Amino acid sequence: MRKVILAAAAALFASPAALAIPPLPPPLPPAAPPKLMIVISVDQFSADLWDEYRPQFTGGFARLAGGAVFRNGYQSHATTETCPGHSTLLTGDRPARTGIIANGWATWNAPRADKLIYCGEDESVPGTDSDHYRLSTVHLRVPTFGDLLKSRFPASKVVAVAGNDRSALMMSGRSADQRWYWGDNGFVTDLAAIQPKSVAATNAAIRKMIAAPPEPLVAPPFCAAKAQPIAIPEHAPVGAGTLTRAAGDAGAFRASPEYDASVLVMAAAHVRELGLGKGSAPDLLTVGLSATDYVGHKYGTGGQEMCLQLLELDRDLGDFFSRLDSWGIDYAVALSADHGGLDIPERAKLRGVVDAARVDPNLTPKAIGDIVAKETGWIGPILADVGVTGDIYLDQHLRGADRSRALAAAIAAYKRHPQVYAAFSKEEIARTAMPSGDPTRWSVIERVRASFDPERSGDLYVVLKPNITPIGHAAGSVATHGSPWDYDRRVPILFWRRGMTASAPNEAIETVDIMPTVAAMVGLPVASGSVNGHCLSGVSGVYCPR
Ligand SMILES: [Zn+2]
Repeated sequence: MRKVILAAAAALFASPAALAIPPLPPPLPPAAPPKLMIVISVDQFSADLWDEYRPQFTGGFARLAGGAVFRNGYQSHATTETCPGHSTLLTGDRPARTGIIANGWATWNAPRADKLIYCGEDESVPGTDSDHYRLSTVHLRVPTFGDLLKSRFPASKVVAVAGNDRSALMMSGRSADQRWYWGDNGFVTDLAAIQPKSVAATNAAIRKMIAAPPEPLVAPPFCAAKAQPIAIPEHAPVGAGTLTRAAGDAGAFRASPEYDASVLVMAAAHVRELGLGKGSAPDLLTVGLSATDYVGHKYGTGGQEMCLQLLELDRDLGDFFSRLDSWGIDYAVALSADHGGLDIPERAKLRGVVDAARVDPNLTPKAIGDIVAKETGWIGPILADVGVTGDIYLDQHLRGADRSRALAAAIAAYKRHPQVYAAFSKEEIARTAMPSGDPTRWSVIERVRASFDPERSGDLYVVLKPNITPIGHAAGSVATHGSPWDYDRRVPILFWRRGMTASAPNEAIETVDIMPTVAAMVGLPVASGSVNGHCLSGVSGVYCPR
């Protein structure tokens, strides 16, 4: 871990018990459940990145690779964004059931002027808007693993630590004992629970680290070979960066390995102080590591920057696991991602992806709405200015026959555009049966169906062709995710526990399979068919209920 944090953390953890490293516990008989279940999400960690970097990993990822490795995991739905992706990880349900269809959606009868709803907020709180919100699980329609764990084992503790609030919220649910996520200048919580003493000390150590210049990262040859500056119109070149930042730059801190290291130190502090894994019932720790997503958005996925980020994260995860080992904790780990990601089209083109391009700036709801207005002779907005692709909403003032006519004209206008793969009406999506089985065989509208909620979804859904980046040149981010294509859907799913037999099946599974599997690991019965996911009986030491 970063040396400054490590120094601070050393002070936190320097109790006599922490210094005396006990021998590791021997492998347990498979029937004995682990005392601590750790579920980690690495934001934007695509299976493409996993496949590419797996041979380079020597730390925490290498340890997990000695367990059950599913390189074909799927966030099977269409809207591959952070909030829906995290909502699948520990509920066992797809967004169509969790209700978390996107990071945000429109609710025209919201009791406030701002009709855009953030996935993790309660919009009924007076004085809020979608940027200044009260964090809440009110939109999550199903219980989480943590909720079920605590109802089955009241002594279980559920703790969430993450880089961003929606990760912590969606992975922990309604029953979290502690929930911490990065604010602007330290980890903050939305819970009224008594705060662990180590939170203030850890925050102080992280602030001290941010105030100082970062330790320079030295690129190993594998990363240095990727250091090729790529020109992007109206933007500084990317590709050869070293993830450095100015002293005190808390924004750049988030697109650096220091960010994930801080989350891991905070998580370790909770394990230590709250005695996670030492009680009479199994505990749950969820960890949301967001830096990979920030690095991906800021620099793309194919340059030296992502390389440095992933190799540092590998090392920091290794340090985190070693620390838990030194405390004699019997833990199991599941690790996956909320979605994958797509590299910048400028670099993808150089690598032979001939159809890689940025979205046409004339493909906004406003521009398409203007085309419809011209055709119909109407004056006034046709499409709401909410998002560029995915869920698109008709203007709330359109009624009756006007509404149907506007919908048909908008779908036709989208379909005519050369970058558009498909445009579906809400009715068409609602009529589609919920898909099941091998997620690689789902049609595009079936993927959209898995992201559909009758109350929250748009009036139409627009899918761009593969390899179209839905952000323009002048945007802050240069790369993104969110599509129904496999570079955004396919993520690694890893399970690890000391003593387990390694396996690496190639079968396609879904992230909704994680919840019933970790539930079986800790002896929590989840009735087959009660969630979208299936317990993975092929994972060593997992005995799925019949
Ligand atoms: Zn994300």
